[in-house]
Amino acid sequence: MTAQLIDGKAIAQKLRMEVADAVMKRTALGKMQPTLATVLIGDRPDSAAYVASKQKACADLGMGSVNHTLPADANQSQVEDLVKKLNDDRRVSGILVQLPMPAHLDEERVLSLISIEKDVDGFSPLNIGRLAQKGREPLFVPCTPFGCIYLLEQVGVKLEGANAVVLGRSNIVGMPAALLLIGRNATVTVCHSRTRDLPDVVRNADIVIAAIGRTEMVRGSWIKPGAAVIDVGINQVVDSTRKSGHRLVGDVCFDEAKEVAGWITPVPGGVGPMTIAMLMKNTLHAAEIQET
Ligand code: NDP
Repeated sequence: MTAQLIDGKAIAQKLRMEVADAVMKRTALGKMQPTLATVLIGDRPDSAAYVASKQKACADLGMGSVNHTLPADANQSQVEDLVKKLNDDRRVSGILVQLPMPAHLDEERVLSLISIEKDVDGFSPLNIGRLAQKGREPLFVPCTPFGCIYLLEQVGVKLEGANAVVLGRSNIVGMPAALLLIGRNATVTVCHSRTRDLPDVVRNADIVIAAIGRTEMVRGSWIKPGAAVIDVGINQVVDSTRKSGHRLVGDVCFDEAKEVAGWITPVPGGVGPMTIAMLMKNTLHAAEIQET
């Protein structure tokens, strides 16, 4: 293996400890305990598991959390009323509406309603708009792309002037990751399902962020020697040797890419742990800005 492994688990743990320390210092001073309100609509088991792990992280770091559950057939005004109530609730620092919402709901309308000061997921159009504008700062950066950039910076990958290729242009990962890289003076190419000659585009990249949800699509032969590779993908593949019958793999063929890249994140244990750590950092930040 030539690549250095980027240990997302260890980097996330260090960040979580920093956040827990800051929370402890605040509460010792009698300041408000940072508190995350989660909204879970419907009964998707994966969404319920994500919400549960976010609440556990809050408890682990000394933060408060409160979960609101709505039935899968909740109507638009029920969801909007709940978000408005949480916006007005001074005990709530941050609001996270678990995605995806059931298809009959207008997701964009719901996300637009979250007060910008409580938008800890960073998905409101106002925060994304600020991220896209030169000279403006969002109050919150979406957690997964924020985690990707944090990993690169922690291991000392130079972003300024680097050729970066982002695979995927989703609102929650690809697009904000590209905006963050541009903000740090990288030269960015964003690829998607209609991109021609994807391997050739990737071969020019000093930094690759792969967020396409395609099992091990990025091959070792696509990677420029020495490049930094951040694999966001989480794909389940059948594995009869595991008790669960499956295992998780990324969008990058790790075994091939690790022989060429300079740095690489594993799946699991790379970007995944960073997402919740960043949510905790954002929730702390929400409590801080609401008292200024
Ligand atoms: P989306 O499905 O919303 O977006 C996928 C993007 O990849 C789209 O822009 C799509 O292009 C592009 N794409 C799909 N197929 C190809 C292809 N063959 N070639 C080039 N581009 C392609 O996914 P997300 O952004 O939500 O998630 C991406 C991955 O990251 C998933 O595996 C997901 O599970 C994982 N993820 C991991 C997180 C973590 O915490 N580690 C958090 C969030 C997501 P187009 O726009 O043209 O359709």
